[in-house]
Amino acid sequence: MHNLLERYYQLRELISEDSIRQDELLKQHTYTRMGGKADLYVTPDRHEELQVIINFARQHQLPLTILGFGSNLIVKDGGIRGIVVNLNRLNQIVRNEHKIIAQSGAAIIDVSRAALEHRLSGLEFACGIPGSVGGALYMNAGAYGGEIADVLESALVLTPEGELVRLTKEQLELGYRRSNIGPNRYIVLEATFSLVSGEYDVVKAKMDELTHLRESKQPLEYPSCGSVFKRPPGRFAGQLIQESGLQGTRIGGAEVSTKHAGFIVNVDDATASEYISLIRHVQQTVNERFGVELETEVRIIGEDK
Ligand SMILES: Cc1cc2nc3c(=O)[nH]c(=O)nc-3n(C[C@H](O)[C@H](O)[C@H](O)COP(=O)(O)OP(=O)(O)OC[C@H]3O[C@@H](n4cnc5c(N)ncnc54)[C@H](O)[C@@H]3O)c2cc1C
Repeated sequence: MHNLLERYYQLRELISEDSIRQDELLKQHTYTRMGGKADLYVTPDRHEELQVIINFARQHQLPLTILGFGSNLIVKDGGIRGIVVNLNRLNQIVRNEHKIIAQSGAAIIDVSRAALEHRLSGLEFACGIPGSVGGALYMNAGAYGGEIADVLESALVLTPEGELVRLTKEQLELGYRRSNIGPNRYIVLEATFSLVSGEYDVVKAKMDELTHLRESKQPLEYPSCGSVFKRPPGRFAGQLIQESGLQGTRIGGAEVSTKHAGFIVNVDDATASEYISLIRHVQQTVNERFGVELETEVRIIGEDK
């Protein structure tokens, strides 16, 4: 950015000093441990501060990118221009009768644990999804037959015009690993989940069972972005990749997992460029073999080096 230092000092005047960093290496904030630098990296601890940052970005025409926990993102090696906003410090979780209200930076795993503590059922499926509430809504995250759409009542979002609106799940158009949050450039601030009464031991047993399944099937010992591809209609991405003989294929430090074919793991300090090349190789091979186009579930953002 041409006058990055100037923008840094200008924004530092407006928000607390510990909420802003310059040239932040994003591989520290992604689950794949890949990604170049963000020009400006901000971590607001109040909604008012977020509002100031958004106004600043608009005033100076700086692109704004929202980062959750980075568990479904590949940030390219050239990093991200403009301002990257991480909402992880806005992470309150409150219970109100059968509802749980969580700020966007709360871990969906913690929301699921809070439900357990309050003897509420419905969020067991989310007990191992390593994302934030904001990221979980954006992706309509789901696992083992459950998804966010099953339990979300409404969300408080900030529109690109700076308006604060509450939207129902229908208005967010949640579908298989999608919502209209990205296309509408909404920033999710808070979500209200509507749950039902459950018995502690039953809810806990379900969560333990799903955790065990996850740990036994997924290569959690390596950095990754989880399942790289969406499930093609009527098929399983992992199975198609396995039957294409791709497990163990490597490009640089990226490898198609030998434990779960739907995962690409960073086994040796992979660059985003290597990881993306391996994704393309898998897509091409599966297409040649089965005529199926695998669509990525993971989002690829940023610039090439
Ligand atoms: C080991 C592993 C296992 C996984 N298992 C599952 C699984 O079982 N099911 C599943 O669905 N996913 C799974 N994932 C993927 C990932 O955890 C989910 O998609 C999660 O919901 C992403 O949340 P995040 O906070 O990490 O989002 P990020 O990856 O940081 O961001 C994803 C998108 O959401 C946007 N976003 C984030 N926060 C906000 C906000 N507040 N407002 C607006 N936009 C926002 C970002 O801009 C980005 O476009 C897994 C990932 C890993 C690494």
